[in-house]
Amino acid sequence: MTSEMMAHAGGCSCRRVRYRMTTKPMIVHCCHCSWCQRETGSAFVINALIEADRVELLAGTPDVVVTPSASGKGQKISRCPTCRVALWSNYAGAGDLVRFVRVGTLLEPYRLPPDIHIFTSSRLPWVVLPPEVIAVPEYYKASERWSKESLARRAALSAAAGQSSA
Ligand SMILES: [Zn+2]
Ligand SMILES: [Zn+2]
Repeated sequence: MTSEMMAHAGGCSCRRVRYRMTTKPMIVHCCHCSWCQRETGSAFVINALIEADRVELLAGTPDVVVTPSASGKGQKISRCPTCRVALWSNYAGAGDLVRFVRVGTLLEPYRLPPDIHIFTSSRLPWVVLPPEVIAVPEYYKASERWSKESLARRAALSAAAGQSSA
């Protein structure tokens, strides 16, 4: 693999499942909600939002575990069948078309710093946020925060979703 390909490659702890993102994500969230805190056992999760067809499996096949979510509609968490590390999630909102890839599973997670901090109303008090990155108390509107390019990618997804449900 070239270093550019390696940049967005990742996998689980036992190395059974490996994947790569074929492009940059649309946006990177750092989520401080209590659900993400519980699921990670940590202060927050870092999710790279990317089209499902831009995540290429290099080895293994994750198991999909349906997990309760704040919306009540559940989230599908894709985990290694052996070591159970979570690699990405699909939420009901964007469905199967958008994967929330867990940035901590990348080989080089430092390459994808958060574009936005969300649900900071439940941020643990000792987590200090960088002043130069947008932070919102709960969620936000993509139309106000995403780059033009990412909004175009999102629009293409909605168009595809409309076709498949028609
Ligand atoms: Zn594993
Ligand atoms: Zn969250």
